[in-house]
Amino acid sequence: MRVKTFRIACIPGDGIGKEVIPAGQQVLQALGQHQPTLRFAFTQFDWGGDWYRAHGAMMPDDGLEALRGHDAILFGSAGDPDIADHVTLWGLRLKICQGFDQYANVRPIRILPGIDAPLKRCTPAQLNWVIVRENSEGEYAGIGGRVHQGHPTEVATDVSILTRTGVERIMRYAFGLAQSRPRKRLTVVTKSNAQRHAMVMWDEIAQQISSEFPDVQWDKELVDAATARMVNRPESLDTMVATNLHADILSDLAAALGGSLGIAPTGNIDPERRYPSMFEPIHGSAFDIMGKGWANPIGTFWSCVMMLEHLGEPLAAGRIMQAIEQVTGNPALHTRDLGGQATTAQVTEAVCDALQAQGQM
Ligand code: ATP
Repeated sequence: MRVKTFRIACIPGDGIGKEVIPAGQQVLQALGQHQPTLRFAFTQFDWGGDWYRAHGAMMPDDGLEALRGHDAILFGSAGDPDIADHVTLWGLRLKICQGFDQYANVRPIRILPGIDAPLKRCTPAQLNWVIVRENSEGEYAGIGGRVHQGHPTEVATDVSILTRTGVERIMRYAFGLAQSRPRKRLTVVTKSNAQRHAMVMWDEIAQQISSEFPDVQWDKELVDAATARMVNRPESLDTMVATNLHADILSDLAAALGGSLGIAPTGNIDPERRYPSMFEPIHGSAFDIMGKGWANPIGTFWSCVMMLEHLGEPLAAGRIMQAIEQVTGNPALHTRDLGGQATTAQVTEAVCDALQAQGQM
């Protein structure tokens, strides 16, 4: 019997990240117990707000080197009430995303069994999307500056950058992902009516890459119209691709339409597999509920599912997803964000029990 051991770097980060990442590890260990060919070796990295207070940085200078030898990264959240948001974001999460060129941010959205989602006329089968976010350039390229600070003459710029290489690779990834899904449908989100340079190139490259995927049916939608379409005609969408900022906003809307911020997962993926990819729940550090045991760990468990799919373990991924759906289907196991009373520990135990029950089938 050949045992595969995956080396997983765990970065719980801040706030409820410190509660949901250990829960994710517990579920992966439980999976390993019932699937003896699979093992996980975890390395802990205590980077984030506390590290910043002690060392003046969110992670060490050689942090990327320490992560490099791992098969994947499981990340909690970065955010601290005492540290500016742009410092926590750029100092940890974006440093890893950019350092490891994780240029595809992938967010699946579905209404899981038992979840009371806001679109009442939409059945769970009608909302099954994946949003692909360009994760390395665009509006968050980090180019810009401020001069004459505090004076009436102050000027500040954030320059959005799109490169042909960057757009071609994200389009190719999105068309490929759309092709791998049953409906083979892609919506390219744009704003080329108002942004008449970079977004026009974005559209042109989408057209050009589409010829490599003749079996994918695709269309274009302006980002503002896309928000209305997500609410009014959710079944008309399947895979979507958008720039960094556009997808950032669309995916929060999508997470809300899926029922709760606490459920949604994401993967920051290097499709070329030169570096470890990073998986995380989309919620932030939620300091308001930190330490109370109320954090919904489902977003982290679903992130573990994405991680296993990326690592080439679809059966193991399917087992965790099945356990998640069994647990969300039971309202007695809903956390407070879903209108229930269950704790992080109870939901985690229930998912582990469901995995054990599968093992005995
Ligand atoms: P950050 O600044 O790190 O983005 P935040 O607190 O501003 O954090 P989120 O963490 O995204 O933003 O949370 C917004 C609200 O949603 C929180 O007040 C919290 O109550 C709720 N929430 C988020 N994630 C969860 C979760 N996993 N379980 C339960 N409630 C959650």
